[in-house]
Parts: sequence; structure tokens; C-alpha cells
Amino acid sequence: MKLRVMALLCLALAGGGCASVQTTQGGVVGIERQQSFSILLSAEQMDQGAGQAYQKIIAEARAKGTLDRDPAQTQRVQRIAARIIQVTNAFRTDAPSWKWEVHVLTSDQINAWCMPGGKIALYSGIIEKLQLTDDEIAAIMGHEIAHALREHGRERASSAVNQAIAVRIIGGLLGVGDVGQTLADKVLTATIGSRNSREQETESDRIGVELAARAGFHSRAAVQLWQKMAKAGGAGGPVWLSTHPAAETRIRDLEAYSVKVMALYEQARGSHPR
Ligand SMILES: [Zn+2]
Repeated sequence: MKLRVMALLCLALAGGGCASVQTTQGGVVGIERQQSFSILLSAEQMDQGAGQAYQKIIAEARAKGTLDRDPAQTQRVQRIAARIIQVTNAFRTDAPSWKWEVHVLTSDQINAWCMPGGKIALYSGIIEKLQLTDDEIAAIMGHEIAHALREHGRERASSAVNQAIAVRIIGGLLGVGDVGQTLADKVLTATIGSRNSREQETESDRIGVELAARAGFHSRAAVQLWQKMAKAGGAGGPVWLSTHPAAETRIRDLEAYSVKVMALYEQARGSHPR
């Protein structure tokens, strides 16, 4: 089932925006809800800004010699990503045909993200410092991809309190407003540069374990990943934690949901022999 625009509601939000309300596909984990987006801020606009921001980051990394430096590591990450991308249709049917891009950036940072429209980066620091298994890489990938599938950045930018962000992004599109900050910069700030809400984090955790399981990766690896992440915390710890707060309840929730998707994992494992 495609994401459907259920209704157009003109809301008297600060900034005077209209909202489009969409219902989502919930998957086996049952994460269904209605999402509200500012009609002033389309998915296409977010994707356009994200695409520009991503190309800039990739070009800079290439110039610095920090892009996909280890071919074996890059292939490993891209192979895992491809399996997960293939099963994204469980949550939205248009996603498998997005213009996905997956790169590894050489950096000490423990970080990873997926921008709107499927532009992914994994930092070598997260793979090497946490000594990630394939299943754990799949857990991160599933979680980050879930943020993009649910358009969490656009959702945050659309909320009443963030109308100013929406207005700035639209200004960037029209070439008006504060000069010096490009559309790409604004989308970057509004998406991977800002903290997700607790609801968005929980949603991505649960969708993430299902995506990993459907792709034949052990869903319990998400629990191990968070345990590793917590150990690596503290000063100079994971950059990832600044936008993905490690709540006490998080690991318990992941444990419960990794059990719920076990049958999907068992089913998928047959087509992905180890
Ligand atoms: Zn997250």
C-alpha cells in the first residue's frame, strides 16, 4: 500500500501553514500512525536539499581521500545496505526505487546517518571502534533507513514549533531569506543535524529490527549494538548519541521487538546462507 494523503487540513499553525496528513504502513511490528507534514514542505523539496548536501559531503570526502578508502569495507557495507533497501517495501512501496546511495567515510567518529531520499553514510569509526558484525551494521542501517522512510526530518520541520525551519527551507528553495545558507545546509540542519523525538526514535528502532530481520540479519544484534554504544559513551564518545539518545528503556524495547520479528528472520535466513 502506498503512502496515502488522507486529507488536507488547513491548520492555523504558527506561520500559517497547511498540513497534509498521511497514514503509514505498520509492518509486523505494527507501527502505524498518522503523520502530519507542512504542505509548504514537500518530500521532493527535502530530497532535493538532501541530495545537494550529500553530493557536497561526498565530493569533500573524495577530495580529502576519505571516501570509500577500504574497498572490502565499502563492499561489505553496500552489500548489507542493498539487502535492507530491498525489503523497505514492507513500510513504503515507493522506497525500493529511491535513488539510494551508500558510502563509507573514513573518520574516527562513531556516527552513521541516512538523509531524506536514501542518502546513507557510515563512518569507519563506528565499524572499527565498535567492531561491528554484519548483523550489527544491519541494525544501524535499518534504524537509520527507518528515519528516512518515515521522513522524520520533514516531520520535525513541519511541527508548529519548527515552522521557522520550514520557512527557512522554503526560503532556500525560492532563493530568498537569509543568504549565505543554502537549501542543502538548511535541510542538513533540519534532518541529520537535529535530535529526533523519543517517538521517532522508538519508531525507528522497531522498524529497524523488522527491516534487518526481513533482510536475513539477526534482529537481536540491535540490542548488542546499543550495549556497545553505551560502553563507548562518555566524553569523546559516540557522535551518534547526540542525535540518538540512549534511553534506559531502549534496550528493553529492542529486546521485545527483536523477538516479535524472529519468524521473519528465520524465513529470510534461508535465502541468505551464511
Ligand atoms: Zn535514530
